[in-house]
Amino acid sequence: MPRYDYDLFVIGAGSGGVRAARMAAAEDVRVAIAEHGPTGGTCVNLGCVPKKLYVHASEYGAGFLQAPGFGWQSQLPLFDWPTLRDNKSEAIGRLNGLYEEMLAKTGAQLLKGTARLSDPHTVDVAGTSYSAERILLATGGRPFVPEFPGREHVLTSDQIFDLEQLPKRMLIVGGGYIATEFAGIFHGLGVTTSQIYRGELFLRGFDNEIRQFVAKQMQKSGIDLRFGLNVEQITKQADGSLSAALSDGGQLNIDCVLYATGRRPNSANLGLEKLGIELSESGAVPVNDRYQTAVPSLYALGDLIDRMQLTPVALAEAMTLVRNLYQGNPQPLDYDLIPTAVFSQPNIGTVGLSEEEALAKYPTIDIYTANFRSLKHALSGSHERVLMKLVVDPQTDRVLGAHMAGEEAGEIIQGIAIALKAGATKQDFDRTIGIHPTSAEEFVTMRTKTRSAP
Ligand code: FAD
Ligand code: NDP
Repeated sequence: MPRYDYDLFVIGAGSGGVRAARMAAAEDVRVAIAEHGPTGGTCVNLGCVPKKLYVHASEYGAGFLQAPGFGWQSQLPLFDWPTLRDNKSEAIGRLNGLYEEMLAKTGAQLLKGTARLSDPHTVDVAGTSYSAERILLATGGRPFVPEFPGREHVLTSDQIFDLEQLPKRMLIVGGGYIATEFAGIFHGLGVTTSQIYRGELFLRGFDNEIRQFVAKQMQKSGIDLRFGLNVEQITKQADGSLSAALSDGGQLNIDCVLYATGRRPNSANLGLEKLGIELSESGAVPVNDRYQTAVPSLYALGDLIDRMQLTPVALAEAMTLVRNLYQGNPQPLDYDLIPTAVFSQPNIGTVGLSEEEALAKYPTIDIYTANFRSLKHALSGSHERVLMKLVVDPQTDRVLGAHMAGEEAGEIIQGIAIALKAGATKQDFDRTIGIHPTSAEEFVTMRTKTRSAP
């Protein structure tokens, strides 16, 4: 008779939890996974997947406007929000089903309900207790909205995908990934869009030149993007619309306000305090490099540990954990050179050090840039531009960072990330033959240094 009901009990069937459950079950580990929402977690249901579908939808707007330059003559088609929203929900429903099938195939048992720890080896789900040798917490995060008068009138990304109607005027607060992506989405769908950010320049942490470039391109495209500004109060008007009082004394009349001011780990109500686990200030669960908490049988990963809130990182953490626990491979995850993209318009793709980060680490650096209008826009009528940038260590010739703002930046930077991970030098970039005519070829044809810094 085994001592426990399961070898591994996973709480949360999102990106990290499902990957850990499937991979462990494939090793003949007896796995249960508890989930109180739809399977797939934030990424599938309220994050990456519906967001990217909406980005695609919003890009058609510009495409239709540019098509006449290529000979396509037609009336501008009308956009129907309910069609997009409902088609998106259907596609996600199919994904939920696939996730459940995948779990069932590997033999992991899916338990529906809210899970809570009652001791280091016991989890309660919907009134039933289950024991396990190890418990993995993969409960993700949720949107954070600061306290201010009128907070009850705002929406977060959790509600924005399923709006009854497309608003005419939208205010987006925040300057991170979600705010900037949704500014592009709503603007592209024809909504009059304002985005305000409290600091001097949005997208803190990204390369400054890229941030400035993207800000300019977004403003040029017609988004009302403003910095050094916050909301002081939101009031509901008699006609149901909203009015936002801004910190500069100004006012905005809108139909909908989206707050995208960060996310916090889902660590409350799990029973952690009782087990003596102290949370970080943001609510994250502290773990060592093997994702083990202060209680040896409890592990945590993904957004809950708040290292990098990205799906591929949660997946990699899950795979690292299972390799360590069940495959005899204790190698910790390498968090260096993780590429990322912001699906704003223009897209940002980035890997490695920004110019500012490189300057803090190296005595001098060389910067190579290309700022151009892509071939497509010779006919499209659009004035949008592309910026590409390489940050190089002149002592070793290693490329320390690659950054891009422009169409398909995420697609292009994924390949560049392999080169950087393999230790590519600027000379390796230079001896690589380009693919013509593409924008990506500029990464291998930046022959002349733009500047050295400092
Ligand atoms: P989650 O995927 O959030 O899964 C946690 C699961 O646990 C959820 O299903 C939840 O219901 C469940 N749960 C919580 N508590 C309990 C409980 N007590 N009992 C049972 N179940 C519970 N990342 C990218 O890499 N690319 C993107 O383009 C991208 N876009 C995003 C867009 C938006 C709008 C948002 C919000 C996020 C986006 N992310 C993106 C981030 C990405 O979604 C997260 O980093 C990722 O989902 C984290 O995975 P996780 O396994 O840690 O948590
Ligand atoms: P971010 O942390 O990216 O950005 C939060 C923004 O809100 C920052 O600009 C921050 O400003 C601002 N902010 C924080 N608190 C306040 C406040 N009290 N008042 C006004 N502004 C405030 O979080 P997001 O919510 O955009 O996204 C959460 C995470 O999800 C991201 O960090 C990312 O890891 C992940 N994600 C990834 C995506 C992708 O891979 N493409 C897409 C979407 C999300 P400041 O900078 O000054 O602190």
